[in-house]
Amino acid sequence: MKKHNFCAGPCILPNEVFKKASESLIDFNNSGLSILEISHRSDAFIEVIETARSLALELLELNPNDYSTLFLHGGASTQFLMVAYNFLNKKAGYINTGCWSEKAIKEAKFFGELTEIASSKNQDFNYIPKNFEIPLNIDYLHITSNNTIYGTQFKEFPKTDIPLICDMSSDILSRKIDYSKFSLIYAGAQKNIGTAGTALVVIKKDFLAKITREIPSMMSYKTHIQHKSMFNTPPVFAIYTAMLNLQWLKKIGGVEFIEKVNDKKAKLLYSEIDRNPLFKGTAKKEDRSTMNATFILTNEKLKPIFDEMWKEAEINGLNGHRSVGGYRASMYNALPLYSVQTLVDVMIELERKA
Ligand SMILES: *Cc1c(COP(=O)(O)O)cnc(C)c1O
Repeated sequence: MKKHNFCAGPCILPNEVFKKASESLIDFNNSGLSILEISHRSDAFIEVIETARSLALELLELNPNDYSTLFLHGGASTQFLMVAYNFLNKKAGYINTGCWSEKAIKEAKFFGELTEIASSKNQDFNYIPKNFEIPLNIDYLHITSNNTIYGTQFKEFPKTDIPLICDMSSDILSRKIDYSKFSLIYAGAQKNIGTAGTALVVIKKDFLAKITREIPSMMSYKTHIQHKSMFNTPPVFAIYTAMLNLQWLKKIGGVEFIEKVNDKKAKLLYSEIDRNPLFKGTAKKEDRSTMNATFILTNEKLKPIFDEMWKEAEINGLNGHRSVGGYRASMYNALPLYSVQTLVDVMIELERKA
């Protein structure tokens, strides 16, 4: 039986994506060859990567004439340094909303001066800073739209003429926002896009003019753009599953549709967290993430009972990140509403038993 998978990443993907990907491992489109053994330069694979690239832009509602799309190796973590290597000429601004922002800051410091514009560290990253001043003398402002570990999410983005760079690893394509506000968006694929092994990078073409440094080929966005994301052998299987997953998202109604589903799931779970006296949400209500809900038990003694109950209900991946503990329910695009209902039923049952 398929489990209710609340894992934070790698995470659940639609069953039809797993099914099609597994068939293609043996025989890709009746070619007599596995997707893993064809040349990445073959027409068949070029069609895969081009479909994935154009679907990503279409779903983000971005004009292909204005943007370059890449599927790169090295996950979101490599983007922490590539962003700075390419665009940090003198000074960059960062908003620190948690561990992923901190890692981005650490890497960027190799390339120039940084200014931390705002931080929620003073309250264990349980909220999104607001009303901060953005200096005018920075090359870009970097933010993390959804803080996977703490369960907080930007609902509104900073209004500024400074180029915005966003790590959207854990909420890209989950909600309708104006993606054109950003000069560069990156996201590790293993949450809402596909499997681990690649990161999607979307760059506004006119932003590329800001690159002045000499950069080694593999770290240079220009290299990858010139070579249409095929400078070296790309992560073919990760790109293939991304294509399948993006096709699935388009088929079910795109971002507008999935946002409604995601809102429903989040509402269902947060209502129970707020209603049930045995649970307490850890993120500030107005900043709660629709993707990752973080919560704790009000009575730690119930932990062994609760843990046994959700495991019994075929739920997987509910433990909080190892750095913060507690619980985290990740409700990415592919997680069905009935999985959330299953979790809520367990929470109600715990109250009845306790
Ligand atoms: C998961 C995650 C990352 C790390 O991605 P990798 O692909 O493992 O490097 C970075 N940022 C955010 C917001 C994430 O959720």
